[in-house]
Amino acid sequence: MVDRLVHSPANRKRISVVEDRFGSSGQPLAVPGRVLVGEGVLTKLCRKKTKPRMFFLFNDILVYGNIVIHKKKYNKQHILPLEDVKLKSVDDDGVMKNAWKIISATKSFMVSAATATEKSEWMAHINKCIQDLLTKSGKKPATDLSPVWVPDSEAPVCMSCHKNKFTAINRRHHCRKCGYVICSSCSTKRYLLPQIASRPIRVCDTCYNTLSAGQTGEDAGRSYQDRDSSGEDDDDDDDEEDDSQKTEEEVHPTFYEDNYR
Ligand SMILES: [Zn+2]
Ligand SMILES: [Zn+2]
Repeated sequence: MVDRLVHSPANRKRISVVEDRFGSSGQPLAVPGRVLVGEGVLTKLCRKKTKPRMFFLFNDILVYGNIVIHKKKYNKQHILPLEDVKLKSVDDDGVMKNAWKIISATKSFMVSAATATEKSEWMAHINKCIQDLLTKSGKKPATDLSPVWVPDSEAPVCMSCHKNKFTAINRRHHCRKCGYVICSSCSTKRYLLPQIASRPIRVCDTCYNTLSAGQTGEDAGRSYQDRDSSGEDDDDDDDEEDDSQKTEEEVHPTFYEDNYR
């Protein structure tokens, strides 16, 4: 039981170790009632390729970051509140084995574990935490979720017009609503998706039309014509300079529930 870990010195110690390893690049993580449920390396599918990322599952948040030195230093910390997270298992016939989607309001992506057993362990633990949180708060599971971006490599041509081939000049863009890879002529509009960004962001024309059709009265002011066609909005922060190390050893997850003391 996670609840038995809340006041345990071991839990407090583990959380402070995580804080130390993120150092000043991370947020304070020790809050009353928080338990570190498990941790481990998962492979995350980023825009261009897969990369190892360190994941920490707490009873209320999922934290992950780049691995600078495994077991010593992590950076680029991301925090997803679990109340807004949904998981979706992915079949093994795609690009990754033992994979599932982590879907949230602000950010969604695909990860994979080393083995099928580890995948089911991770999914079960995360789902249990989400379930416990929703039971406690009485809230409904999240519905307004951001899409998982289709990786660049899976789209040689625009997924909307199926004509425009991508090149160094004809760049790929991602629709922030459906996650498809689209060309600039199929994504000339911007739309405000408040759960993802505070300013209007790129959506494909199909999503733009659907979103605009669904808006009424005061919401109508939320759509914008293309104001910035530079295309520089497509950076996925995970694809910035990558300082992650290859982690050959100790990639297997540790879950603390069963060995609390
Ligand atoms: Zn197109
Ligand atoms: Zn779209």
